[in-house]
Amino acid sequence: MQVEFKNEPFTNFSLPENKKAFEEALAKVESELGREYDLIIGGERIKTEKKSRSINPSNKEQVIGIVSQADQALAEKAIQVAAQTFESWKAVPAEARSRYLYKAAAILRRRKHEFSAWLVKEAGKSWAEADADTAEAIDFMEYYGRQMDKLAQRHPLTRIPDEDNELYYIPLGVGIVIPPWNFPLAIMVGMTTAAIVAGNTVVLKPASTTPVIAAKFMEILEDAGVPAGVVNFVPGSGSEIGDFLVEHPLTRFISFTGSRDVGLRINELAAKHRPGQKWIKRLVAEMGGKDSIIVDNDCDLELAAQAIVTSAFGFSGQKCSACSRAIVHQDVYDQVLNRVVELTKQLTVGDVRNPEFFTGPVVDEKAYNKILEYIEIGKQEGKLMVGGEKGPDSGYFIMPTVFADVDPQARIMQEEIFGPVVAFTKARDFDHALEIANNTEYGLTGSVISRNRAHLEKARTEFHVGNLYFNRKCTGALVGVHPFGGFNMSGTDSKAGGPDYLLLFTQAKLVSEKL
Ligand code: NAP
Repeated sequence: MQVEFKNEPFTNFSLPENKKAFEEALAKVESELGREYDLIIGGERIKTEKKSRSINPSNKEQVIGIVSQADQALAEKAIQVAAQTFESWKAVPAEARSRYLYKAAAILRRRKHEFSAWLVKEAGKSWAEADADTAEAIDFMEYYGRQMDKLAQRHPLTRIPDEDNELYYIPLGVGIVIPPWNFPLAIMVGMTTAAIVAGNTVVLKPASTTPVIAAKFMEILEDAGVPAGVVNFVPGSGSEIGDFLVEHPLTRFISFTGSRDVGLRINELAAKHRPGQKWIKRLVAEMGGKDSIIVDNDCDLELAAQAIVTSAFGFSGQKCSACSRAIVHQDVYDQVLNRVVELTKQLTVGDVRNPEFFTGPVVDEKAYNKILEYIEIGKQEGKLMVGGEKGPDSGYFIMPTVFADVDPQARIMQEEIFGPVVAFTKARDFDHALEIANNTEYGLTGSVISRNRAHLEKARTEFHVGNLYFNRKCTGALVGVHPFGGFNMSGTDSKAGGPDYLLLFTQAKLVSEKL
């Protein structure tokens, strides 16, 4: 009997022993920088001539790892191996599959600080953000293992005399797993292990900016004894092998988390039937966000300001759940704006190897240039209150930026920036605030800060987002506690970390026997 699921606790870095342990982990990771990582197909390590270099976004000179890159021939090989391995993996009992996840979770827990240190180095996460990413990865495995154990039990059907009826949730086949770089451990682990615990085999194409952390996770799966070929590790550029993997006739499903545009492209390609393809491909696509915090006139103003700053600038705003729109009631607009500006000025920005920095860099040059362009657009569309410029040149640093008096239809109010930029707009009343909150094509997260019960209840039904929070920040969903996924252009609302998620990677089969 498994113990009940419990979220992995976060590390308290103010305790000297934890600080010391993390510094040791960082030193270990630093001693391993610049190594080479291979593809892993059917357990075989494959080096290619073409390689990519993963760079520390805090320190552009530092190479994190050098990673072999798959071409289409190797992508083909990975799909074939995954298809062959599916024939044996699907017959492994569910409880044995979930045991692999518990084992992998235990190994990751033992190596927790080491993995978090890789996240600091490769993704530019602060210690606390990295620790939360690793904890979430552990949670996903513990949670999905238990969900699979439940799904494998006898299901309550209406029983009738003279018949024995059973419902089974069986796997789909070969899945292509395409995660983003912003939770390079947690989301990658969650997407991969949910698919395999349900009995599928996987071709994992990690995000090109964070392939090393995924390669390190492959070591854990191997140590946990997951059979060769169940997860095939195929780093490579999305534009080079992405379409090929998605279009392949043996691909049964695609599990994608990333931007709206790539998600829509995958949706279109996956919908087209290819010669030799026997099924309608299933797509789980979790995409972007343009998330709002509504501040009502009757509320705790300090809480509102803190919630906006934490949600907008944690991990430099590079979360799909990040607050990029503050919609504030006119009665309290100036107070909340001024307090947010004050708090933003106190934020420290720099190389997150050092624990005193709250905000690190953005992930790479492309993101850096894109965010700086949006800041220029913001200067036309609103009043720059704080930030609006680059940080230190050693890495891709951008100062946390607040714009005021922005029109709800302005570009910085509508388009996902994915950086440390928040725009304020003034609402006449609560209904107007709700109308603004619902005026984007996205629908991922949102918060309402209010003491007015009637307003909260109105938001409960009318604020159209997948994850709605009251009187707290709009980031930081916990596995099992806040199943996560959004509406509209935010994706297929898969609710990762929730009780329905595994169903997406199964198909239900009913067997009826006349007695
Ligand atoms: P992205 O550019 O869309 O990339 C996501 C993944 O798709 C990467 O592995 C990328 O590979 C791959 N890819 C690119 N082109 C492809 C193609 N033609 N076919 C198949 N795969 C392709 O997104 P990102 O910049 O990594 O992540 C940030 C985005 O993810 C934001 O929009 C954010 O809101 C969203 N996100 C959503 C959630 C959620 O739960 N809703 C969670 C986290 C992030 P390469 O790296 O090789 O290009």
